[in-house]
Amino acid sequence: MREVNSVYRTAVTLRTALIGKQTLAFDALGCDGIRPAVGHTIEEVRTFGKNIEIVWDDGVVLHSTFRLTGSWHLYRRGERWSKPRDRAQVVIAVSDWIAVCFGAISLETFRDFDPRRHPILGKLGPNISHHDVDIEECVDRMMHYEDREATVSDVLLDQRVVSGIGNVFRCEILWACEIHPWACASELKRAECRELLLLAQESLIAQIPNEMAVYGRQGKSCHRCGDLIRVAHHGEASRVLYWCPGCQIGHQPLVSPNITPLSIDRTPVFGDTHPASHVLMNELATMRGDGQDSFN
Ligand SMILES: [Zn+2]
Repeated sequence: MREVNSVYRTAVTLRTALIGKQTLAFDALGCDGIRPAVGHTIEEVRTFGKNIEIVWDDGVVLHSTFRLTGSWHLYRRGERWSKPRDRAQVVIAVSDWIAVCFGAISLETFRDFDPRRHPILGKLGPNISHHDVDIEECVDRMMHYEDREATVSDVLLDQRVVSGIGNVFRCEILWACEIHPWACASELKRAECRELLLLAQESLIAQIPNEMAVYGRQGKSCHRCGDLIRVAHHGEASRVLYWCPGCQIGHQPLVSPNITPLSIDRTPVFGDTHPASHVLMNELATMRGDGQDSFN
């Protein structure tokens, strides 16, 4: 139990340092398989028992498991490491921190929801971040999505329609086009699909956004309408979705399907403000309330 608590604390620290930041470098000597691309944003840090998972906005997950020894360390850039560099298994650099994994007993990467692994799914769609992508073909793919009840949020992340849109840009382009994230994709007009995809392409090629309109801004005021930005888990891969309920009202459904609201206080929050941290702190409070004596 003591080790599990230590993993929780490590996760809280990693969240504060990494979440919402772009990956500037990723090096993983001890890990084969898919790698998060430089430039993608770290979206979540999750814990299960003695396991820590770091999730990027393109759905790549780095899973690390620890026994009694081994952990993630955080260093400021230029700070001296407390262990030799050649023992580092994974190094993740963001603008102001370097996270280093030492002594994990297992490390692997995978995609949270990888359509290419799905038995009935086909090939990846055109990569929207390419200059020469055929936008009208992408629009066709979006308009003819087989699940007529799918939300626009799910369709934008389905890599068979178009590939390359990560969760950050999904949230941002839906806000920019004032479309409700749970809008039924089949209700969108061709011009609306085209506008979303062109904006996605433009954003991906420019590799903005430096300043987010909704992503990571839960509880803060919308720049357009002043309402408070909300966040929830949504969809097949249960990704974190940010939106403004005040102005993203295009094609708003009568009932919001498959929503897992994350409790976001409107009162000031100290320390780690990420919603995942709220969930964690609630869990910790519950554990304390249950009289678990192994906390220290
Ligand atoms: Zn708004």
